[in-house]
Amino acid sequence: MAYDKNNVFARILRGEIPCKKVYEDEFALAFDDISPQAPTHVLVIPKGEYGSMDDFSENAGDAEIAGFFRAVGRVARQAGAVEKGYRFLSNCGPDAHQEVFHFHVHVFAGRELGGMIRRPK
Ligand code: AMP
Repeated sequence: MAYDKNNVFARILRGEIPCKKVYEDEFALAFDDISPQAPTHVLVIPKGEYGSMDDFSENAGDAEIAGFFRAVGRVARQAGAVEKGYRFLSNCGPDAHQEVFHFHVHVFAGRELGGMIRRPK
């Protein structure tokens, strides 16, 4: 799928839409999810144009991949989530209900997070 430069996270990166920024470096931007599912629910996105985990893992450079995942860890650490624990995940494609087609990782923390995968109703 071609990358859509007008997806909502691309617009956040360009400053066209506001976000509640919690972390930024050369490789990544992190901000609060607009519809949080845990007391801490942060989205971490790479600065490059990658539509999904599939695209990012195949096409990003080694420095981008390393920098991005280091940023994910920093976001969790900065949130004070390491001791009690946190979960990070990325939805990729239709079965995973990916809604925004700029690669992103969700970081959840701040409560007991339950089982790993919720069964469909
Ligand atoms: P998904 O693509 O399924 O991993 O989910 C996309 C996530 O982006 C959802 O959790 C939304 O609540 C979140 N989201 C959508 N628009 C915004 C926005 N403008 N600012 C922050 N989070 C957003």
